[in-house]
Amino acid sequence: MERKNLGWYKCDICGRTTVVAECSLRPGFYVCPYCCLACRLRRECEKPVWMPGAKPWKAKDKSIEEEEKQVFIRRRLYRTGR
Ligand SMILES: [Zn+2]
Repeated sequence: MERKNLGWYKCDICGRTTVVAECSLRPGFYVCPYCCLACRLRRECEKPVWMPGAKPWKAKDKSIEEEEKQVFIRRRLYRTGR
């Protein structure tokens, strides 16, 4: 079966037929948004194919989570690194 970069196919992780995209870590491997978000390698993934901006946050307090996101974004933008 020939697959395009993005389409309605079977996810190689959960087997669900849904919108999948080619994993940036594993060429030829197609993942759905759910499996991509839940991927254990997401922290090391340079360019997650689904929602590249979303990082796995340990959600405890929403305001803290938001703050961490802001810090993360600022660090990314200015590369201050501190
Ligand atoms: Zn999946």
